[in-house]
Amino acid sequence: MTAQEYGRPNKLFTPGPVNIPNRVSLASIQACYHHRVDEFAQILTETLELMKPVFGTQRQVYPVHTTGRGAMEGVINNILTPEDKAIAICNGSFGAMAAKMMERNHIPCVRCWEGWSDNVDLEELERLIRLHKATAITVVHNDTSNGLVNPIWEIGKLARRYDLMLIVDCVSAAGCAPFQFDEWGVDAVVTASQKGLMSPAGMSFCVLSEKAERACAAIESHDFYIDFKSIRKNLEKNGQTPGSTPVSLVLAVHEAVKMIQEEGVEQVFARHHDLARRTRAALEAMGFQLFPKNCAFRSDSLTVAAPPDGLDASALVAHMRKRYHIQIGGGLGEQAGKTIRIAHMGYCYMEDMLQCIAVLEAAMADLGWKEAPGAGLSAFLAGEDS
Ligand SMILES: *Cc1c(COP(=O)(O)O)cnc(C)c1O
Repeated sequence: MTAQEYGRPNKLFTPGPVNIPNRVSLASIQACYHHRVDEFAQILTETLELMKPVFGTQRQVYPVHTTGRGAMEGVINNILTPEDKAIAICNGSFGAMAAKMMERNHIPCVRCWEGWSDNVDLEELERLIRLHKATAITVVHNDTSNGLVNPIWEIGKLARRYDLMLIVDCVSAAGCAPFQFDEWGVDAVVTASQKGLMSPAGMSFCVLSEKAERACAAIESHDFYIDFKSIRKNLEKNGQTPGSTPVSLVLAVHEAVKMIQEEGVEQVFARHHDLARRTRAALEAMGFQLFPKNCAFRSDSLTVAAPPDGLDASALVAHMRKRYHIQIGGGLGEQAGKTIRIAHMGYCYMEDMLQCIAVLEAAMADLGWKEAPGAGLSAFLAGEDS
């Protein structure tokens, strides 16, 4: 019988969901509030308030009762119409997903940078904006499929210059890397509960700019379930949400954002940055090739890499899970079977990554890799990023 069968769960290094701190699990079951009572409304209000530094905003944070994809589609339907034309930055599977959402919802969009190693070139972006007379941009801050980061801070400048609606999927970056909603000129941002927010999946959080709020007010969205006018009305009226609020999830996220506040949001970002640097150094020392090869900005949330020749990525992922109960992610889409994805997001500290890298080395040895284990750990401890 394996340890898993005895009830010992895998420790997660997957880029969503992530490990849930005990504090968060306990908070989520501590009380059984009705979602219409003031005590609960206060907890929700405080949760949204504590989330502002995560997004770098002074604006209202909106709760949305769905996972990240639902909230992203909701935002798109609430602030864009078939009269718009979006540049969809598709340099990862989640970038392409936003394009699919727009296509499905009859919002014209142009797919750009469809290669998974394509860094956004700002001059080219400006050319495309003019060429297509674009009115919007959709982009992923940190694409979880390939570990590529898009420079929202630069894209925001162009969006402002051309008065475009800038919609950012920040699901796997929020709470891991700095985000400056107000300063960067973003119009809509989305994150979900199961990544940097260290909670179970099922809730999302969004911020809308004044421009996005105006668009939202002017559009009769065909989306009944995710309707920011109604979310806003309920929040303003009594700090509640439309329909049945997922109370246990709000309690979980409330505890998680308190933990972020206690550690200090800047320290949380610094911790992720440090773990990412060390993890990259470790993998390179073990003969992995970081993916994508030419990446302008690498993720602080996860590391994607191809194993050295002779080691099968899928076998490595499966072996780590079965033998050591450490679960990392496999490659997605075109990278399936070719890369591994190791998350260092959310509830993840030095001791956790030390364990993950040590187990990775043990698993490589089990699978016949000839180099003696230790190179990865040494590089991780030295923390030198190439
Ligand atoms: C995880 C993730 C999503 C998906 O959200 P769900 O909560 O699974 O619906 C969207 N975008 C990015 C970048 C993600 O990492």
